[in-house]
Amino acid sequence: MKDRSTLIIDGKALAAKIRGEVASECAALSGEGRRRPKLCVIIAGDNQASKVYVRNKRKACEDCGIDSVTVELGADVTREELFSVIDKMNSDCEVDGILVQLPLPGGIDEKEIILRISPDKDVDCFHPVNVGRVYTGDPVFLPCTPAGIIELLKFAGVEISGAKCVVVGRSNIVGKPVAALLLSENGTVTVAHSRTKDLKSVTSEADILIAAIGKAKFFTAEYVKPGAAVIDVGMDRDEEGKLCGDVDFDGVFGICGAITPVPGGVGPMTVAMLMKNTLKAYKLHEG
Ligand code: NAP
Repeated sequence: MKDRSTLIIDGKALAAKIRGEVASECAALSGEGRRRPKLCVIIAGDNQASKVYVRNKRKACEDCGIDSVTVELGADVTREELFSVIDKMNSDCEVDGILVQLPLPGGIDEKEIILRISPDKDVDCFHPVNVGRVYTGDPVFLPCTPAGIIELLKFAGVEISGAKCVVVGRSNIVGKPVAALLLSENGTVTVAHSRTKDLKSVTSEADILIAAIGKAKFFTAEYVKPGAAVIDVGMDRDEEGKLCGDVDFDGVFGICGAITPVPGGVGPMTVAMLMKNTLKAYKLHEG
């Protein structure tokens, strides 16, 4: 029954606040006459969505006072060519962060490419060294989308400690690392996936539901516990080609206690956390 007020968690506003904080720190650094932080983004191929993401990251860098360089490579790029660009950026002491926009063109082993990035420049937090540090509770960088999700929950005043958290999706980019961060925050975490039996009965127990499966409007009201906080990570297209999330926003509004919209929820936070990681890498390099 739709009988409650639902808080819409404004990811755009929170992301703007975080970017503003990064920008102030960067402005203070250049006021001291020091070099600016620098991010290198490597993109290969013609994936249109990737091009939009890269443009957004470049714009965020400009707004924050972070220098950025984009290396654009063709769809026929070889692993050796990618290695050579990454090696060059690894050894450039003015480059603080290196990010390879995924997916890469077919035939290239993404794991091998990520392994080539120096862990101290791995601002996406995809390198196994950094992933391991997140799991052992000793992180250098935090994975961008998962860290953004934790910030959104805190911003909305949602208590994670002791809460039943259900993460649906177990990718290395979202599902697994967000589960690790929720656990670090003392949540009681369940990770569900495509083989989970009776998914509805699992998700409808959740105080915090993280939807990260990439299926438009999949999570209808029956999947959601009344009063739950729902974080919609999905970036999908509906029947009309409009951007939407994994959650049926209209269907669960008035049932859940809080929800992130798509667009304007998790997406802007991912970029804001990337800016934070780039500044962190800069501080590591500059001592
Ligand atoms: P992914 O690598 O495709 O993983 C999808 C996961 O969902 C898999 O673990 C899969 O289970 C599970 N799954 C698929 N269908 C399911 C179902 N019917 N029931 C239960 N589980 C199901 O996707 P991803 O990279 O994690 O991305 C997920 C979504 O988040 C996408 O829409 C993506 O665009 C979006 N995203 C957004 C941001 C952002 O910044 N907003 C960042 C990253 C991703 P199996 O493992 O069993 O196959």
